[in-house]
Amino acid sequence: MKILMVTAEMTPLIKVGGLADVVGALPAALARRGHEVRVVLPCYRDLSTDGAGPADWQGCRTVPLRVGQRMASVNYRTWADAPEGVTVDLVQAEGWFDRPGIYMHPDGLPFSDDIERWAILAHAALMVPELADWPVDVVHAHDAQAGAALLLRRHVYGDRPLPGPGRTMLTIHNLSHQILVPPTDLQPLGLPPHLVHFPGPLEFYGQANLLKGAILASDLVNTVSPTYARQVTADHEMGCGLEGVLAGLGDRFVGILNGVDTDVWNPTTDPHLPARYTADDLTGKAACRQALVEEMGLEPGDGPLLGLVGRLVPQKGIDLLTDVLDRAVGAGFSLAVLGTGAEEYHELLHAAATRHPGRVAFRDEFNEGLAHRIYAGSDLFLMPSRYEPCGLSQLYALRYGTPPVVRATGGLADTVDDAAGHSGTGFVFNDPRGEALWAALERARALHADRGAWRALQRRGMARESGWDRAAAEYEARYRWLLEPGVRPKG
Ligand code: ADP
Repeated sequence: MKILMVTAEMTPLIKVGGLADVVGALPAALARRGHEVRVVLPCYRDLSTDGAGPADWQGCRTVPLRVGQRMASVNYRTWADAPEGVTVDLVQAEGWFDRPGIYMHPDGLPFSDDIERWAILAHAALMVPELADWPVDVVHAHDAQAGAALLLRRHVYGDRPLPGPGRTMLTIHNLSHQILVPPTDLQPLGLPPHLVHFPGPLEFYGQANLLKGAILASDLVNTVSPTYARQVTADHEMGCGLEGVLAGLGDRFVGILNGVDTDVWNPTTDPHLPARYTADDLTGKAACRQALVEEMGLEPGDGPLLGLVGRLVPQKGIDLLTDVLDRAVGAGFSLAVLGTGAEEYHELLHAAATRHPGRVAFRDEFNEGLAHRIYAGSDLFLMPSRYEPCGLSQLYALRYGTPPVVRATGGLADTVDDAAGHSGTGFVFNDPRGEALWAALERARALHADRGAWRALQRRGMARESGWDRAAAEYEARYRWLLEPGVRPKG
């Protein structure tokens, strides 16, 4: 099959969160199964090309494009280091992508021309099959930004068929990222106006909702874990107002659990680590712990060293952690945190580091290497999320022999089994309250003191099958389902 993926992020080129890791790995896993995959991604200024300059980019075409009242000049470049079987087409569009920031300006201000940017990506992606003479089977877009391509595919390109069947699939990585704007702001997409006004598919309480429109424009929609898929159709808060829309899709909405790129996330080979290790010989993990302690300026007590890597936003349950932090330090835990996000959490964590020098360390930056070293060097990994579509961090922690402490929600519930009764791979709690997290930490501390039981727990987590092959096979099965005659897009 020929699969065209449209995305705003892709590891290792540009990463904000888990979306990048998924698009960094799934296309290659599909290619290994014999499919041809093209990924279309904006050519941001901040794109990391692994130190290679522009000379390493191949190919170049210029196409004029109308975006609302303006004209854009679009170039395609090809990433020379793409995985085998995968083509990555980078969309250059003058100042629209050649600026600092991905979803917003680095100072936190939104881009006033945000919709124009995603309209350009969408048009540029949908032109690829024709320009490249590549009859596409499935257009697979990720999240609301790239979902604009599915809106155009259905409502604008309907009269201009793509080469190939071009059936559509949308993957929702986080339902709370919807892109809500006044209806007039959608003008750059060139959609027929009735679509954004009640009862049109983009209308959402008087505003236009890009994600809602993309969901209703897709032949098939999925999210990234079975439990999150159930939660978002059953619960208004989890569904962020789209629970009815998703439930209405019936069997055209499914949960497919993410995998892990086992080449990148592998403690046996990881170049970011000061020492490597295996499940059979964890000596290197002790060296990683010692190096992490030094790197973060910690002087831990006898208790476990807790690690946390993530976006510091309410979703991640950071308030649960700050609720129990002083108590945890008093009980002998130490804490290493890496993350950026809400100013309020930065202040709370910096204050905790000042209150507990040597016991709490906080780095407010994006640092891929340090993230790897925290997964490897910590004793326990914290993920007390209020909700979690899939979560990759807990999967990385498991692979690095660092049992995760997680809330039983979304993908966390699907990937971590509680260690009660000396089975399972981590520590799971239910209530979104500090007390419940604390009870899980107490259980973890008790088990940590039993060396043999702890080793067995680590080994069970490290043995968990988490590569992309299973997920790629599931996506493949869904693509095939889309291409079966008789399965038509929703009217
Ligand atoms: P989400 O997609 O909600 O951010 P995931 O757990 O799915 O959460 O994925 C988060 C990814 O982003 C992981 O690869 C994690 O290591 C990475 N990450 C998050 N914050 C940072 C940071 N400050 N520095 C380095 N990596 C980070």
